[in-house]
Amino acid sequence: MSRERLYSPKVIKQLLKAFDFSFSKGLGQNFLIDGNVVRSISEGAEISKDDYVLEVGPGFGTLTEELLMNAKKVVSVEIDERLNQVLMQTLSGFDNFVLVNADILKADLKRLVEEQFNNHSFKVVANLPYYITTPIIELFLKSDLPVESLTVMVQKEVGDRILAEPGNKTYGSLTVFTQYYADASLVTRAPKSVFMPQPKVDSVVVKLDMKKELPQVNEKVFFKLMRGAFTKRRKNILNSLTTDTSLAINKEEMKAILESLNLSTNLRAEDLSYTDYLNIAKLVEKKHKVD
Ligand code: SAM
Repeated sequence: MSRERLYSPKVIKQLLKAFDFSFSKGLGQNFLIDGNVVRSISEGAEISKDDYVLEVGPGFGTLTEELLMNAKKVVSVEIDERLNQVLMQTLSGFDNFVLVNADILKADLKRLVEEQFNNHSFKVVANLPYYITTPIIELFLKSDLPVESLTVMVQKEVGDRILAEPGNKTYGSLTVFTQYYADASLVTRAPKSVFMPQPKVDSVVVKLDMKKELPQVNEKVFFKLMRGAFTKRRKNILNSLTTDTSLAINKEEMKAILESLNLSTNLRAEDLSYTDYLNIAKLVEKKHKVD
């Protein structure tokens, strides 16, 4: 008879007891206890036997177990060394698992990818620790590592910001920032009851498929414009794009740019689509050589 899977709350409770383990709130330790969610993360990430997977924070190995059953190799980066002995037991049956003890934000990922994946492209899959969700997403989006996609569980509020449409109040710099690097889609929503211990908020799983090629635009101009626009969301776009961006462009010039794109100067940052920001950045770049 096959043994019970790690997502069983009974198994998690047994492990807590056997290893005298207490969850660290500070490390965002909310472990998954729901088989459907675990499966939908792996399915959403489209993991197959050809795939190399980098997981952030394996915890007791609940999601890792599912990934190991489907992937070629899984390398999990975990900061909490108390989990080493637990994982040694829970994932002992797999020969395609490697545990790396490190802080994901400080780890030498270039070297890891070279040593563990032979520089092959890989997928990032994780139930992210909530206190550093955005820095981790930014790290992988901006890195020049061969990342194919990120499939990550994040708190609902962050997921809503990533997936927001223009005009929505959750639409903001994170939405546009993400779109610059990736195509975002919703995998599934999950209530707080699928975690132990239960967090205060519900979660969503989003998939970010990395774009094969970055947009043809001066990155500095694009990000300066975008950040400036969202710094004071209530200002109209003409004001925020000229006073808050530190780009040497005056109101007259920006007005002409907006008009040439059929964008009213009275719009606010949240009304402009990702493509609008791209188009504005291209025209600003044309007018001024920005270094
Ligand atoms: N994957 C497990 C699951 O779904 O049951 C645990 C997910 S839990 C939300 C987040 C995990 O990330 C914890 O195991 C925590 O110790 C780990 N973690 C927190 N901060 C980290 C960091 N800076 N680098 C690597 N892992 C971290």
